[in-house]
Amino acid sequence: MRGNGGRMPSGAAAMPRHLLSMADLDAGAIRTILDTATQMQDVQRREVKKIPTLRGRTIINLFFEDSTRTRSSFEIAGKWMSADTINITGKGSSASKGESLRDTVRTIDAMGVDALVIRHGASGAAHQVAGWVDAHVINAGDGTHEHPTQALLDAYTMEQRLGSLEGKHVAIVGDLTHSRVVRSNLISLRRLGADVTLVAPPTLMPSGIGAWSAAEGFTLSHDLDAVLGGKGSGEAARPVDALMMLRVQKERMSGGFFPTAREYTVGYGLTRDRLNRLCDANPEIVICHPGPMNRGLEISADAADAAQSLVLDQVSAGVAVRMSVLYHLLAGEESPTESGATSEGSAA
Ligand code: ASP
Repeated sequence: MRGNGGRMPSGAAAMPRHLLSMADLDAGAIRTILDTATQMQDVQRREVKKIPTLRGRTIINLFFEDSTRTRSSFEIAGKWMSADTINITGKGSSASKGESLRDTVRTIDAMGVDALVIRHGASGAAHQVAGWVDAHVINAGDGTHEHPTQALLDAYTMEQRLGSLEGKHVAIVGDLTHSRVVRSNLISLRRLGADVTLVAPPTLMPSGIGAWSAAEGFTLSHDLDAVLGGKGSGEAARPVDALMMLRVQKERMSGGFFPTAREYTVGYGLTRDRLNRLCDANPEIVICHPGPMNRGLEISADAADAAQSLVLDQVSAGVAVRMSVLYHLLAGEESPTESGATSEGSAA
């Protein structure tokens, strides 16, 4: 930390012991994590990406669902901070022999690990695990419930391009029913002062969302073109600063949520035509997608690869933001990039 002898500023926001939901972080804690992520991104840009901050700590990535971005970025984040990181997947663990989740995590915890990063298909799994272990628990996605580090990296990425999100209009479009990303993003974006409109076909709006939108103050729409054209009521009537497209989560769908893929794309996809109209109206608009993308379904290749697309910036920010989260949960008061520093810590 610059200008204060490498210590966290006094009065820094209090961090929770675990990160299970975005609701665990108040606006101050979100701000602190995003600010530290900026320092972590400096480390990410160095030639030698190694700082001693988590030396001697052990982080287990326990993934019961597939992942490319989240798992590898948690692993890289831990390694760049000198922690020992170990990956365990559901298929390669004793869970495949019928061991319960409780026994699996208590077994790992008994080895004396410091943090458990867990992804599980059951909503609420991370909360349960936190009650069973001494290690810090980070929710890397639990069913259709939450994915807090995704929301943090989304906020970080949007801020890098748009500046403060206070008063900005973010539209989140797609498969809301199955998205843990939207639940975490709603909490985070509202805490950062953004106005949010959710857009989906009626069949992909989660039940109870009307009451939630009234309580949290976000807008709902089934009409993507009206929202993108600044038509509609409430927030939907305002120009969109950031558009977040969500993946159609076929693996979580048991029935037909829309007639055909083609009809979904016509109604709710970010097609080339929509992209052109949007960029003509506002060339500064940013487009996000948490990945993995279904190119040609919810997002066209033109949109995914457009200059307005922040998809790869999101991936890059994922490492810095997860370094920041690990640091704040595990290292506490030490300097984020120089604690226990030796010359190794300031390698260029
Ligand atoms: N990667 C994100 C998640 O794990 C989004 C997605 O899978 O669509 O929730």
